[in-house]
Amino acid sequence: MKNVLEPNPAKIAHALEAWFAVSGRDYPWRQTTDPYAILVSEMMLQQTQISTVLDRGYYARWMERFPNTATLAVADEAEVLRVWEGLGYYRRARFLQQMAQRVESEHGGVFPATLEGVRALPGVGDYTAGAVCSFAHDAAAPIVDGNVARVLSRVWDDATPVDSREGMARLWKRSRALVEAAKSPRVFNSALMELGQTICRVSAPNCGSCPVQPHCLTRDPTSLPVKSKQTVITAVTERVYFQIGVEGVLLQQESGKRRTGLWKLPELPALPKPPAVLHRSKYTITRYKVDLWVHAPPEKAGAAPPEGLQWIPLAKLEALPMPSPYRKALNAVLAQQDFQLKA
Ligand code: SF4
Repeated sequence: MKNVLEPNPAKIAHALEAWFAVSGRDYPWRQTTDPYAILVSEMMLQQTQISTVLDRGYYARWMERFPNTATLAVADEAEVLRVWEGLGYYRRARFLQQMAQRVESEHGGVFPATLEGVRALPGVGDYTAGAVCSFAHDAAAPIVDGNVARVLSRVWDDATPVDSREGMARLWKRSRALVEAAKSPRVFNSALMELGQTICRVSAPNCGSCPVQPHCLTRDPTSLPVKSKQTVITAVTERVYFQIGVEGVLLQQESGKRRTGLWKLPELPALPKPPAVLHRSKYTITRYKVDLWVHAPPEKAGAAPPEGLQWIPLAKLEALPMPSPYRKALNAVLAQQDFQLKA
């Protein structure tokens, strides 16, 4: 029979904290109370798996190169993008640098300590501000991200769409009630996130091992959370070309909103018969599934490159920021021709 009692925030919070004390995972950003280091981890984890950020060394490399806001604020943007390369969604790297510049110029190099102060930094939303303040200062600041939304929808057995105004308001209210009832907001918010990542998963939630199970109202967890908008994946074809000469490789610097400042192989102009295919690969970005074709050049460019393109010497390719699908494609084509760059 369905439990009609309203879940008790204090009981849930204490059960989660006790569970986390035994089962919580140890990540580098959980071993620090430096709000900058925590913000870096949160920005990296917004669209990227923990395993990618940790196992492939992104977090360690970033913190080694930019250990504080002072070093990041004055870094060359191309280097910032290069260190971020492979994580995608490059706006996050730019926001981090803008944040560092703001902390240096407006806060005398001291990271803001209040929720409002953190929330006012570039690229920081309610979730990130709550995460930074609870993890750095043990402040009772609520968090709601995809994992938390799923857990709370299920515990309260609430089918209100989580992407609706009403749904969001309910989630934030519940998250706030929970964190305010916790003994340690830092521990509780970590536990809540981890429950969503490891136990209350999208499919096959492990309710039998869940510390919240005695308080959880849903009897059909995989039907929750409900979303009003479904993401539609669109397939697109992208055709670029590879040309190498005595001056290096012909490349194009992007100016679009998402990838400004990054370099890529030049776009192939529309032709009745495209030149030979040198390489083909697939990748996904936001809601697009991209089929990337690398062709031979449409016509040989002379010493003066076509407008908007540049010859880049081979020795300089490694330091250029480049979206990883292009880096991999370029490496593959260069390898065919006995050149090799680092992935
Ligand atoms: S009991 Fe199941 S559905 Fe409820 S919070 Fe735990 S894992 Fe999620």
